[in-house]
Amino acid sequence: MKGSIVILTGAGISAESGIETFRAADGLWANHRVDEVATPEGFAANPVLVQNFYNQRRGQLRDEAIQAHAAHYALGKLEREYQGVVTVVTQNIDNLHEAGGSRRIIHMHGELLKSLCSSCGRREPLEGDLTVDMSCPACGRTGTLRPDVVWFGEMPYRMDEIMELLEECALFISIGTSGHVYPAAGFVETAAAHGARTIEINLEPSRIRSRFDEHRQGKAGELVPVLVEEILQGHIRF
Ligand code: NAD
Repeated sequence: MKGSIVILTGAGISAESGIETFRAADGLWANHRVDEVATPEGFAANPVLVQNFYNQRRGQLRDEAIQAHAAHYALGKLEREYQGVVTVVTQNIDNLHEAGGSRRIIHMHGELLKSLCSSCGRREPLEGDLTVDMSCPACGRTGTLRPDVVWFGEMPYRMDEIMELLEECALFISIGTSGHVYPAAGFVETAAAHGARTIEINLEPSRIRSRFDEHRQGKAGELVPVLVEEILQGHIRF
């Protein structure tokens, strides 16, 4: 078995699929302030607005125009063909890594295509819209269902598992993430401290660019397939 690979992805890898990034323009996410739509306080203040916001994002995933692209497919290929363990840890809540053929995926910020009951904690697959008057299929309470998305101030999922993977990996790659959102922005340091080689692919130098051994600047759809071929052909030493 070859050394394991961990790939951290952010909103930038989905940008070429037509899904808006988060901070790219002006700190707004799809014309909403982040504290309005991505915090527990925002949800408590205006649950209808927040449900509608995520209903729209979920609706986009049903839109045929939103498809996985070359970077997602290349990561799926890497997982299938590399003679070692490849894990995608994504901050994205869309399903484009699944569509691209990746199977070992950790959605550390949750998934649009699931609901979470804030009363009993039950998670359920979700295709359509969530509304404030729906009841939880498990506990029967009304008004407790929310998108299974980790908001600012909440603990990301599967952190213990992610830390173990980072400590063990030989190669850490970050794609399309700005380095503003912790704990993900700190993953490069954990991996490097345990001896991993680190590579960043981003449209612009991220805030944490200097912590990587190598920065490749450009579009994920162009640069990720090239990097994957280099890894599969043994051209990257780690
Ligand atoms: P971010 O929006 O803060 O940063 C995206 C980064 O990607 C930027 O540095 C930008 O320069 C880069 N980028 C843009 N287009 C690119 C391309 N074609 N190729 C390569 N890089 C490109 O995103 P983040 O760091 O992931 O943090 C945002 C948070 O918002 C995350 O926690 C995530 O949960 C959430 N979010 C998710 C989605 C999604 O699921 N698709 C979309 C928006 C926001």
